[in-house]
Amino acid sequence: MLEVKDISVTYKKGGIQKVIDQMSWPLETGTVLAVAGPSGCGKSTMIHALAGILPYEGSVTLDGAGLDPKTCSIGLIPQNYGLLPWKTVRENCLYTAKIRGNTRDMETHLSSLCKELGIQELLDRYPGTLSGGQSQRVALARAFLMDPKLLLMDEPFAALDIGAALTARELFLRIWKEKKPTTVMVTHGVEDALYLAHWIAVMERGGSFNFFAANPWQGIKRPSEAAYGDLARQITEKIIKADEI
Ligand code: ADP
Ligand code: MG
Repeated sequence: MLEVKDISVTYKKGGIQKVIDQMSWPLETGTVLAVAGPSGCGKSTMIHALAGILPYEGSVTLDGAGLDPKTCSIGLIPQNYGLLPWKTVRENCLYTAKIRGNTRDMETHLSSLCKELGIQELLDRYPGTLSGGQSQRVALARAFLMDPKLLLMDEPFAALDIGAALTARELFLRIWKEKKPTTVMVTHGVEDALYLAHWIAVMERGGSFNFFAANPWQGIKRPSEAAYGDLARQITEKIIKADEI
């Protein structure tokens, strides 16, 4: 279980702003949570806090132990992928592994991941020479390389055209199923959320959820049941409502 308990995040630059105020939620281990919500409500802030790159008050535990990015492998796909332009694709992917002094077997794992993602020819290229779809796959390879126990993704499909986004979500789901890391994914796409996530939450300004529900249609393409349409509509309404606040 990933247990987020009473976490608060305050920015102090340019005036004090409490973006997340005592947020609490549980997430079952080995499942995906999709979080939607209006721009500026604190989704990226929440992801950065969970990733350990932003300080927060409160506690986060994963399977009973405090979530410590130094000891727990956390995979992060930041908004716009965060690839370093001066490093090749290979170096970008192995960078985190190197920081942790853990490159053994990584090259082999990287080449099998890249093969799965169809990007094995890109390993010596620089990010500036890649298409959006290619960069996204590199970000997936980098995030999955460390076999993360917790995977955090911030709008991973948002910058892609429809075709590339559909391919990317199939690739994601295929790789995700191999190890099933506990995953928190920020998305604006209701359809993406319903296809990829077991749980769907909607965040409103002030960093709290106004909606949190189980999704029985994870991994199912275009379900025809009326209840699926009802859930999709309900989520959309909650997103619209959160935007009005
Ligand atoms: P979202 O990802 O939901 O669009 P963010 O988490 O990026 O929202 O931002 C939430 C709020 O925090 C916004 O009001 C934004 O201006 C503010 N914010 C984000 N990053 C910083 C920062 N580094 N310093 C100060 N304020 C920030
Ligand atoms: Mg954001």
